[in-house]
Amino acid sequence: MASSYALRRKKTKDNSGKGTTYCSGDKVAESGIYDIKHHLHREHHEAVFLKGGVFPACRVCGERIRFQLNHGAPYIAEDPDFGELPN
Ligand SMILES: [Zn+2]
Repeated sequence: MASSYALRRKKTKDNSGKGTTYCSGDKVAESGIYDIKHHLHREHHEAVFLKGGVFPACRVCGERIRFQLNHGAPYIAEDPDFGELPN
């Protein structure tokens, strides 16, 4: 439900002013491409996350990692005109 997502979401202001920053352990409320910002050991990079998942911790910087939605795009199976894809 939307309300449980809202409770877990941490709305932290980021220097870029681009939007909500998520921490490891937060639920993914929107599918899309996220910017991943590590603590010191690695340049930022991008990855796709699907709604309903959980942002992971990094093997190196653990929970000091941050995630920020770069470009939202629904997974095809979330679209009512396509629905669940066969496995
Ligand atoms: Zn890291």
